[in-house]
Amino acid sequence: RGINDNEPSCAFSPDNGVAAMAACYQRFDPAAYLQYNYTPPRADFERKDSIVPWKLACLHRAFTEGDVSGEVLVDIGSGPTLYQVLSACEVFNKVLLTDFLEVNRQELRRWLQDEGGCNMDWTPYLQHVCKLEGRRPSAWMEKAAKLRQAIADILPVDVHSPQPLAPDALPSGGADCLVSCFCLESVSPDLPAFTRALGHIGRLLRPSGHLLLIGALGESYYFGGPGVKIPVVPLNEGQVCDSLKESGFTLIRLEVYTLPQDMRVGVDDVTGVFFAKQRITLN
Ligand code: SAM
Repeated sequence: RGINDNEPSCAFSPDNGVAAMAACYQRFDPAAYLQYNYTPPRADFERKDSIVPWKLACLHRAFTEGDVSGEVLVDIGSGPTLYQVLSACEVFNKVLLTDFLEVNRQELRRWLQDEGGCNMDWTPYLQHVCKLEGRRPSAWMEKAAKLRQAIADILPVDVHSPQPLAPDALPSGGADCLVSCFCLESVSPDLPAFTRALGHIGRLLRPSGHLLLIGALGESYYFGGPGVKIPVVPLNEGQVCDSLKESGFTLIRLEVYTLPQDMRVGVDDVTGVFFAKQRITLN
Protein backbone atom coordinates (compact mmCIF):
# COMPACT_ATOMS: atom_id res chain seq x y z
CA ARG A 1 0.00 0.00 0.00
CA GLY A 2 1.21 3.48 -0.86
CA ILE A 3 1.03 6.45 1.45
CA ASN A 4 -1.74 7.94 -0.68
CA ASP A 5 -4.06 5.03 -0.06
CA ASN A 6 -7.30 6.58 1.16
CA GLU A 7 -8.54 3.62 3.13
CA PRO A 8 -8.72 4.52 6.84
CA SER A 9 -6.39 2.51 9.08
CA CYS A 10 -8.62 2.72 12.15
CA ALA A 11 -12.30 2.30 12.93
CA PHE A 12 -13.99 4.71 15.32
CA SER A 13 -17.08 4.66 17.42
CA PRO A 14 -17.82 7.24 20.12
CA ASP A 15 -16.82 4.84 22.94
CA ASN A 16 -13.64 3.34 21.55
CA GLY A 17 -11.97 6.55 20.34
CA VAL A 18 -8.92 6.58 22.61
CA ALA A 19 -8.37 2.80 22.26
CA ALA A 20 -8.72 3.05 18.45
CA MET A 21 -6.09 5.83 18.39
CA ALA A 22 -3.71 3.65 20.43
CA ALA A 23 -4.32 0.81 17.94
CA CYS A 24 -3.47 3.11 14.97
CA TYR A 25 -0.14 3.96 16.54
CA GLN A 26 0.96 0.33 16.75
CA ARG A 27 1.95 0.58 13.05
CA PHE A 28 3.72 3.97 13.36
CA ASP A 29 7.04 3.85 11.49
CA PRO A 30 9.60 6.37 12.88
CA ALA A 31 11.90 6.22 9.82
CA ALA A 32 9.04 6.91 7.37
CA TYR A 33 7.60 9.67 9.58
CA LEU A 34 11.00 11.40 9.72
CA GLN A 35 11.36 11.09 5.96
CA TYR A 36 7.88 12.54 5.25
CA ASN A 37 8.17 15.53 7.61
CA TYR A 38 11.81 16.31 8.38
CA THR A 39 13.50 16.38 4.95
CA PRO A 40 13.10 19.00 2.14
CA PRO A 41 10.83 20.68 1.14
CA ARG A 42 9.46 20.74 4.71
CA ALA A 43 12.94 21.05 6.20
CA ASP A 44 14.71 23.29 3.68
CA PHE A 45 17.05 25.61 5.57
CA GLU A 46 17.70 27.68 2.45
CA ARG A 47 14.02 28.71 2.33
CA LYS A 48 12.46 31.18 4.76
CA ASP A 49 8.95 29.82 4.02
CA SER A 50 9.81 26.19 4.80
CA ILE A 51 7.86 24.76 7.74
CA VAL A 52 10.74 23.45 9.89
CA PRO A 53 12.73 26.74 9.91
CA TRP A 54 9.47 28.51 10.88
CA LYS A 55 9.01 26.18 13.87
CA LEU A 56 12.66 26.55 14.92
CA ALA A 57 12.38 30.36 14.75
CA CYS A 58 9.24 30.33 16.96
CA LEU A 59 10.96 28.13 19.56
CA HIS A 60 14.17 30.19 19.45
CA ARG A 61 12.21 33.39 20.08
CA ALA A 62 10.16 31.84 22.90
CA PHE A 63 13.25 30.61 24.75
CA THR A 64 15.24 33.85 24.36
CA GLU A 65 12.57 36.33 25.47
CA GLY A 66 13.65 35.82 29.08
CA ASP A 67 10.32 34.88 30.70
CA VAL A 68 10.67 31.09 30.23
CA SER A 69 13.12 29.71 32.77
CA GLY A 70 13.70 27.11 35.47
CA GLU A 71 15.36 23.74 35.91
CA VAL A 72 13.10 21.06 34.37
CA LEU A 73 11.51 21.00 30.90
CA VAL A 74 9.37 18.13 29.60
CA ASP A 75 8.66 17.51 25.91
CA ILE A 76 5.32 15.71 25.60
CA GLY A 77 5.00 13.21 22.74
CA SER A 78 8.52 13.71 21.37
CA GLY A 79 8.10 11.04 18.71
CA PRO A 80 11.42 10.26 16.99
CA THR A 81 12.37 13.98 16.79
CA LEU A 82 14.74 16.34 18.59
CA TYR A 83 14.29 19.69 16.79
CA GLN A 84 11.81 20.86 19.44
CA VAL A 85 14.38 20.90 22.26
CA LEU A 86 17.36 22.45 20.44
CA SER A 87 16.69 25.93 21.85
CA ALA A 88 15.32 24.64 25.18
CA CYS A 89 18.60 22.94 26.13
CA GLU A 90 20.33 26.33 26.34
CA VAL A 91 17.91 27.40 29.11
CA PHE A 92 16.99 24.21 31.01
CA ASN A 93 19.56 21.96 32.70
CA LYS A 94 17.22 18.98 32.76
CA VAL A 95 15.20 17.98 29.68
CA LEU A 96 12.86 14.98 29.76
CA LEU A 97 11.78 13.49 26.43
CA THR A 98 8.63 11.38 26.37
CA ASP A 99 6.65 9.20 23.98
CA PHE A 100 3.82 6.65 24.00
CA LEU A 101 5.72 4.24 21.72
CA GLU A 102 8.83 2.25 22.54
CA VAL A 103 9.99 2.47 18.86
CA ASN A 104 10.16 6.26 19.18
CA ARG A 105 11.89 6.15 22.55
CA GLN A 106 14.41 3.74 21.02
CA GLU A 107 15.10 6.13 18.12
CA LEU A 108 15.78 8.94 20.63
CA ARG A 109 18.00 6.66 22.75
CA ARG A 110 20.07 5.79 19.67
CA TRP A 111 20.84 9.49 19.14
CA LEU A 112 21.50 10.03 22.84
CA GLN A 113 23.97 7.14 23.01
CA ASP A 114 25.70 8.35 19.81
CA GLU A 115 26.59 4.87 18.66
CA GLY A 116 25.12 5.09 15.14
CA GLY A 117 21.99 3.50 13.66
CA CYS A 118 19.88 6.70 13.77
CA ASN A 119 17.26 7.20 11.05
CA MET A 120 17.94 10.94 11.00
CA ASP A 121 20.96 13.23 10.86
CA TRP A 122 20.12 16.22 13.06
CA THR A 123 23.32 18.12 12.05
CA PRO A 124 21.63 20.66 9.70
CA TYR A 125 19.06 21.35 12.46
CA LEU A 126 21.79 21.90 15.06
CA GLN A 127 23.68 24.16 12.62
CA HIS A 128 20.56 26.18 11.85
CA VAL A 129 19.74 26.76 15.52
CA CYS A 130 23.39 27.74 16.19
CA LYS A 131 22.96 30.40 13.47
CA LEU A 132 19.73 31.64 15.11
CA GLU A 133 21.66 31.91 18.38
CA GLY A 134 24.32 34.05 16.70
CA ARG A 135 26.96 31.32 16.88
CA ARG A 136 29.03 29.97 14.02
CA PRO A 137 27.41 26.89 12.40
CA SER A 138 30.52 24.86 13.37
CA ALA A 139 29.43 25.19 17.02
CA TRP A 140 26.87 22.46 16.28
CA MET A 141 29.00 19.78 17.95
CA GLU A 142 29.12 21.71 21.21
CA LYS A 143 25.36 22.12 20.98
CA ALA A 144 24.87 18.39 20.39
CA ALA A 145 27.02 17.67 23.46
CA LYS A 146 25.00 20.17 25.49
CA LEU A 147 21.73 18.57 24.43
CA ARG A 148 23.01 15.05 25.26
CA GLN A 149 24.05 16.29 28.69
CA ALA A 150 20.69 18.00 29.30
CA ILE A 151 18.51 15.01 28.34
CA ALA A 152 17.99 13.38 31.72
CA ASP A 153 15.59 10.63 30.62
CA ILE A 154 13.32 9.31 27.87
CA LEU A 155 10.03 8.25 29.42
CA PRO A 156 6.68 6.68 28.47
CA VAL A 157 3.72 9.10 28.37
CA ASP A 158 -0.03 8.88 27.81
CA VAL A 159 -1.82 12.22 27.51
CA HIS A 160 -5.21 10.51 27.88
CA SER A 161 -4.33 9.48 31.41
CA PRO A 162 -5.06 12.04 34.17
CA GLN A 163 -1.49 11.27 35.27
CA PRO A 164 0.42 11.20 31.93
CA LEU A 165 3.86 10.38 33.46
CA ALA A 166 4.98 7.96 36.18
CA PRO A 167 4.36 9.56 39.62
CA ASP A 168 8.07 9.94 40.46
CA ALA A 169 9.10 11.33 37.04
CA LEU A 170 8.98 15.00 38.10
CA PRO A 171 10.00 17.06 41.14
CA SER A 172 7.06 17.40 43.58
CA GLY A 173 6.46 21.02 42.58
CA GLY A 174 6.02 20.10 38.91
CA ALA A 175 7.90 20.95 35.70
CA ASP A 176 8.90 24.54 34.93
CA CYS A 177 8.03 24.27 31.26
CA LEU A 178 6.39 21.91 28.78
CA VAL A 179 6.89 21.70 25.03
CA SER A 180 4.54 19.65 22.88
CA CYS A 181 4.51 19.50 19.08
CA PHE A 182 1.88 17.86 16.85
CA CYS A 183 0.93 15.47 19.62
CA LEU A 184 -2.44 16.25 21.21
CA GLU A 185 -4.47 16.75 18.02
CA SER A 186 -2.92 13.68 16.38
CA VAL A 187 -3.59 11.30 19.26
CA SER A 188 -7.11 12.47 20.24
CA PRO A 189 -10.29 11.07 18.70
CA ASP A 190 -12.20 14.39 19.00
CA LEU A 191 -12.06 17.98 20.30
CA PRO A 192 -13.27 17.15 23.85
CA ALA A 193 -10.49 14.53 24.16
CA PHE A 194 -7.95 17.11 22.89
CA THR A 195 -9.12 19.59 25.55
CA ARG A 196 -9.01 16.93 28.29
CA ALA A 197 -5.48 15.96 27.22
CA LEU A 198 -4.42 19.63 27.53
CA GLY A 199 -5.82 19.62 31.07
CA HIS A 200 -3.89 16.42 31.89
CA ILE A 201 -0.54 17.80 30.74
CA GLY A 202 -1.25 21.15 32.43
CA ARG A 203 -1.22 19.32 35.77
CA LEU A 204 2.44 18.45 35.20
CA LEU A 205 3.40 22.14 35.47
CA ARG A 206 4.35 24.12 38.54
CA PRO A 207 2.16 27.19 39.21
CA SER A 208 2.78 29.79 36.46
CA GLY A 209 4.84 27.29 34.44
CA HIS A 210 4.91 27.72 30.65
CA LEU A 211 3.57 25.56 27.83
CA LEU A 212 4.88 25.97 24.27
CA LEU A 213 2.46 24.20 21.98
CA ILE A 214 2.91 23.63 18.26
CA GLY A 215 0.21 21.89 16.27
CA ALA A 216 -1.57 21.29 12.99
CA LEU A 217 -4.49 23.40 11.72
CA GLY A 218 -7.21 21.97 9.50
CA GLU A 219 -5.70 18.50 9.46
CA SER A 220 -7.92 15.40 9.36
CA TYR A 221 -5.23 12.73 8.85
CA TYR A 222 -1.53 12.11 8.42
CA PHE A 223 0.54 9.11 7.38
CA GLY A 224 2.63 7.58 10.17
CA GLY A 225 4.17 5.17 7.65
CA PRO A 226 3.24 3.52 4.33
CA GLY A 227 -0.52 2.80 4.53
CA VAL A 228 -0.68 3.97 8.17
CA LYS A 229 -3.34 6.68 7.92
CA ILE A 230 -3.82 8.25 11.35
CA PRO A 231 -6.89 10.44 12.00
CA VAL A 232 -6.34 13.94 13.42
CA VAL A 233 -8.74 16.40 15.11
CA PRO A 234 -9.07 19.24 12.57
CA LEU A 235 -8.50 22.42 14.60
CA ASN A 236 -8.94 26.10 13.87
CA GLU A 237 -7.31 28.96 15.81
CA GLY A 238 -10.49 29.73 17.76
CA GLN A 239 -10.78 26.13 18.98
CA VAL A 240 -7.13 26.10 20.07
CA CYS A 241 -7.66 29.30 22.10
CA ASP A 242 -10.92 28.02 23.65
CA SER A 243 -9.38 24.66 24.63
CA LEU A 244 -6.37 26.38 26.20
CA LYS A 245 -8.63 28.68 28.21
CA GLU A 246 -10.86 25.81 29.33
CA SER A 247 -7.77 23.89 30.49
CA GLY A 248 -6.52 26.73 32.70
CA PHE A 249 -3.94 28.39 30.45
CA THR A 250 -3.43 32.12 29.82
CA LEU A 251 -2.33 32.75 26.25
CA ILE A 252 0.76 34.93 25.76
CA ARG A 253 1.11 34.66 21.97
CA LEU A 254 -0.36 32.74 19.06
CA GLU A 255 1.40 32.65 15.70
CA VAL A 256 0.09 31.00 12.55
CA TYR A 257 1.91 29.64 9.49
CA THR A 258 0.07 28.81 6.26
CA LEU A 259 1.50 25.96 4.24
CA PRO A 260 2.69 27.02 0.76
CA GLN A 261 1.27 24.81 -2.00
CA ASP A 262 4.55 22.98 -2.64
CA MET A 263 4.81 22.01 1.05
CA ARG A 264 1.58 19.96 0.64
CA VAL A 265 3.36 16.78 -0.31
CA GLY A 266 0.64 14.13 0.14
CA VAL A 267 1.68 12.85 3.58
CA ASP A 268 -1.22 14.65 5.33
CA ASP A 269 -3.88 17.28 4.64
CA VAL A 270 -2.55 19.98 7.01
CA THR A 271 -3.26 23.55 5.88
CA GLY A 272 -1.43 25.49 8.58
CA VAL A 273 0.54 25.30 11.81
CA PHE A 274 0.02 27.21 15.07
CA PHE A 275 2.58 28.12 17.69
CA ALA A 276 1.08 29.05 21.07
CA LYS A 277 2.99 30.31 24.10
CA GLN A 278 1.09 30.34 27.40
CA ARG A 279 1.37 29.91 31.13
CA ILE A 280 -0.79 27.85 33.43
CA THR A 281 -3.05 29.90 35.69
CA LEU A 282 -5.03 27.32 37.62
CA ASN A 283 -2.27 25.15 39.22
N1 SAM B 1 6.57 15.64 18.49
C1 SAM B 1 6.93 14.95 17.28
C2 SAM B 1 6.95 15.93 16.14
O1 SAM B 1 6.89 17.14 16.38
O2 SAM B 1 7.08 15.53 14.97
C3 SAM B 1 6.01 13.75 17.01
C4 SAM B 1 4.57 14.06 16.76
S1 SAM B 1 3.68 12.65 16.14
C5 SAM B 1 2.56 13.42 15.02
C6 SAM B 1 2.60 12.22 17.49
C7 SAM B 1 3.31 11.48 18.59
O3 SAM B 1 2.39 11.20 19.65
C8 SAM B 1 3.87 10.12 18.16
O4 SAM B 1 5.23 10.08 18.46
C9 SAM B 1 3.10 9.12 19.00
O5 SAM B 1 3.83 7.97 19.35
C10 SAM B 1 2.70 9.93 20.20
N2 SAM B 1 1.52 9.40 20.91
C11 SAM B 1 0.61 8.49 20.46
N3 SAM B 1 -0.33 8.28 21.40
C12 SAM B 1 -0.01 9.06 22.46
C13 SAM B 1 -0.59 9.25 23.75
N4 SAM B 1 -1.70 8.64 24.13
N5 SAM B 1 0.03 10.11 24.60
C14 SAM B 1 1.15 10.77 24.21
N6 SAM B 1 1.74 10.63 23.01
C15 SAM B 1 1.17 9.79 22.14
